[in-house]
Amino acid sequence: MIATIIRRLTRNRRDVPLATRFDQYERITSDPQPFLFQRTIGQRTEVINPGTLRDELAKLSDALTVERPELTGCRFTPHDFRRLFATDLVNHGLPIHIGAALLGHLDVQTTHGYVTVFQEDVIRHYQTHLAGRRAARPVREYRAATVTEWDEFEKHFDKRKVELGNCGRPYATPCEHEHACIRCPMLQVDPVMIGRLDEISSKHHPDPRQVTHVTEDSSAKT
Ligand code: SF4
Repeated sequence: MIATIIRRLTRNRRDVPLATRFDQYERITSDPQPFLFQRTIGQRTEVINPGTLRDELAKLSDALTVERPELTGCRFTPHDFRRLFATDLVNHGLPIHIGAALLGHLDVQTTHGYVTVFQEDVIRHYQTHLAGRRAARPVREYRAATVTEWDEFEKHFDKRKVELGNCGRPYATPCEHEHACIRCPMLQVDPVMIGRLDEISSKHHPDPRQVTHVTEDSSAKT
């Protein structure tokens, strides 16, 4: 599809012509760049307005319903093509984290939302990618774990249970915070323990109106 667009733009020339794009949010015009969705009006070459593209897509969507009546009422937007592009990449074996980089996503979960595949497909692609990476590494790095190592690994997860939920510290790392879980960023609070958390919190930060003042002779008054 992209090759077809480029062929059309370079029909009478070697390179894609440079065009400017007006950003309606920032109210600025970009430097000339080889944009793909461009048109020439008189002497000026500019990016096609998003509204115009949406209108053209709406016309194409309507035309489609002649052969596919089940699509009546469907409206495609330019953003749908970004989703289609992402889905196509992942379905053809590109690891999803590379797809994320191509789309400019900082978090792979954002790309996951773009890709119309089942969770199992994402796992399968990632495992295929890992298998490929492992094949390129020395075999000794991927030996099977011994019984003792498995035992230790499982015990680590037992040790992760703390009063308020789970400890999220990585495997084989010690607690570096002397089990002061309540202030520890590794603590993953179990929602059922929220009440207990509030109780501890109110004990440490009591209502100032209820504070007990201690006088010099240690007699207390409220
Ligand atoms: S203090 Fe942090 S690292 Fe240590 S057990 Fe609690 S949550 Fe885990």
